Amino acid sequence: MQQSAKQIYKRLLKYTFDYKAVAILSIVGMLGYAAMDALFIKLMQPFIDDGLTQRNTEVLTWAPLVVIALVLGRGIFNYMASYCLSYVGSQVVRKLRQQLFEHMLFLPVSFHDQHSNGDMISKITFDTEQVQQAITRALQVMIREGAFVVFLLVVMFDASWQLSSIFLIIIPIVALIVNVVSKRFRKISKNIQDAMGEVTRGSEQMLAGHKVIHGFEGHNKEIERFAQVNNHNRQQRVKMDATRALSVSVIQILAASAMALILAIIAMPSMIDTITSGTFVALLSSMMMMLRPLKQLANVNGELQRGIAAAQSIFEILDTQLEKDTGTLDLPSCTGEIVVEGVTFCYPTKKEPVIRGLSLHIKPGERVALVGRSGSGKSTLSNLLPRFYDIEMGSILLDGRPIQDYTLKALRRQFSLVSQQVVLFNDTIANNITYGLDTPLSEPQLIEVAKQAHVWEFVESLPEGLNTLVGENGVMLSGGQRQRIAIARAIVKNAPILILDEATSALDTESERLIQDALDSLMVGKTSIVIAHRLSTIEKSDRIYVLEQGQIVEQGTHQQLLASEGIYAALCKMQHGA
Ligand code: ATP
Ligand code: MG
Repeated sequence: MQQSAKQIYKRLLKYTFDYKAVAILSIVGMLGYAAMDALFIKLMQPFIDDGLTQRNTEVLTWAPLVVIALVLGRGIFNYMASYCLSYVGSQVVRKLRQQLFEHMLFLPVSFHDQHSNGDMISKITFDTEQVQQAITRALQVMIREGAFVVFLLVVMFDASWQLSSIFLIIIPIVALIVNVVSKRFRKISKNIQDAMGEVTRGSEQMLAGHKVIHGFEGHNKEIERFAQVNNHNRQQRVKMDATRALSVSVIQILAASAMALILAIIAMPSMIDTITSGTFVALLSSMMMMLRPLKQLANVNGELQRGIAAAQSIFEILDTQLEKDTGTLDLPSCTGEIVVEGVTFCYPTKKEPVIRGLSLHIKPGERVALVGRSGSGKSTLSNLLPRFYDIEMGSILLDGRPIQDYTLKALRRQFSLVSQQVVLFNDTIANNITYGLDTPLSEPQLIEVAKQAHVWEFVESLPEGLNTLVGENGVMLSGGQRQRIAIARAIVKNAPILILDEATSALDTESERLIQDALDSLMVGKTSIVIAHRLSTIEKSDRIYVLEQGQIVEQGTHQQLLASEGIYAALCKMQHGA
């Protein structure tokens, strides 16, 4: 749901409430600054009329001191306003950014499936920055220059209210222009943000897929695509600047016309004697001085609308529902009994379910295997257990209770998962292995685990050992080495249920057998679910489920399935080449 601009102002304003005192100080500073400037013009009237025209030396001796005092006051107010404003603005943005980061972290996996990382990064970096600018720059101009205009009007009216009234005619017209232009500004700003998202997305794709691009000669395609989004971004900016320049010019022309009208009236013979030189100078300077703040006020509108559009895009994310975590049960350590009953699951982005009416029962400590063609739903099923996706039909019970009854934290604590796509952080091997542990492992413990997962084999010879950096997502390691680190990470977590999704697929036969032995001993007393294409690794399972298009079509031990001569037997035959 889109929020109106007013709701967004209000919501943004709420963020400043925590820094109320500083915000008020800053407003006082801005008002003071504007007052000093207006006072300066106001004082020209007595200087000229009393000082110069009437040759009053007392007034003239005070003049330099007043000037110094005004300039000093102006400087102090300015510093106060700028410092406090920057403080509030930066605090608000820090808070928004932090909230955005945390909110994204707790959004469901399905949300991230549907949104590109580039867009999200752009929100955290670019959009928050836009809000900061809107808050500081726009508030500064609106309050300071706004007050200046009001003060100048006071000076003008004080000098001659009849003449000054003419100036007021233009105010409704200016308001109308500002209103129309605002809408356009906001629309363009939204486009700029989207364009910025496209720029980050394009860059991200180029960086992440760098090697593929080289391998498949995608250079031109990428360059063209980026040139397009880059140019789109530029066009939006030009549109914005053009709109701004036009509105500023129109407003200034209006103001100048009003000024011309006033000058014409003053020049009339009946008027010319009623006005002193001092009044005339004060009036004229006020009007001249007003052009600058008017221009800034018209200009700042663009900035403000940009901030509003950015805040809107941020609030949209902040309003997206988090992962449902309504369960209340805690579970220190489960026995590992898993009952899946009639589960049908459809990815939110797809129409066809990928798991259909699937049921299975895993007893505590059992070792089961899932096999089946690629795309049959094995990984999906393993993702449903720790609730990476929520099911809508059927039920999954862990230790006799629906998994939704547990808190997400408690539930996920029960699983050590080695997923098909190994994800490593750009950190040391040691930190990747112990990721998620509250208390760090001692060096010998760490080496012990590294040996179990056969990480030690390749780490030992590295000059930095376990402190070697693995690079972005582990690029500095081989596929098999990455998998071994992932296995070590799962071993360290030591959860009651182990899920291995193609955990050893990238290993050579010998390493696989060695790791298999390590995993075998790890699985003792634990429930484990092993997904494998290489059937030799799962022969010893207590039960093997064969999946096809999201349904279990065969189940039994290796021997039973061979004997029944079904799909599994056929697969085995193919793999053994007989
Ligand atoms: P493989 O052996 O190749 O790993 P799998 O049995 O693990 O295959 P799944 O990853 O469970 O297969 O995928 C099952 C189906 O769900 C596939 O048709 C796939 O296209 C689809 N799918 C997988 N992940 C998603 C997702 N995040 N969003 C939408 N559809 C998905
Ligand atoms: Mg899979």
